[in-house]
Amino acid sequence: MKKFKKTVENFKCENCGKEVKGDGYTNHCPFCLWSKHVDINPGDRKESCGGAMEPIETYYESDSWFVIHKCKKCGEKKKIKLNKRDNLRVVEEVISKQLH
Ligand SMILES: [Zn+2]
Ligand SMILES: [Zn+2]
Repeated sequence: MKKFKKTVENFKCENCGKEVKGDGYTNHCPFCLWSKHVDINPGDRKESCGGAMEPIETYYESDSWFVIHKCKKCGEKKKIKLNKRDNLRVVEEVISKQLH
């Protein structure tokens, strides 16, 4: 079991510039799906890297969409599960990039 800590905070997306209302579970942007490399375990904010994380791959599994982010700064990859408020059109864009 991974440790999970709930941290509610709002942030401004560094990729698209939109204000994102934090729900305590996620730090990715629901508009463009970019994230920030701040967690070691989800929500712990213990990672000091702070690099922008680009959505590079998506896949569908057990009735949910997942996105794999790659950190622009250190290259680490992380998987997140998307929720209903996320913009699934971006998922399609990521998929079309994968195919090219
Ligand atoms: Zn964004
Ligand atoms: Zn990083």
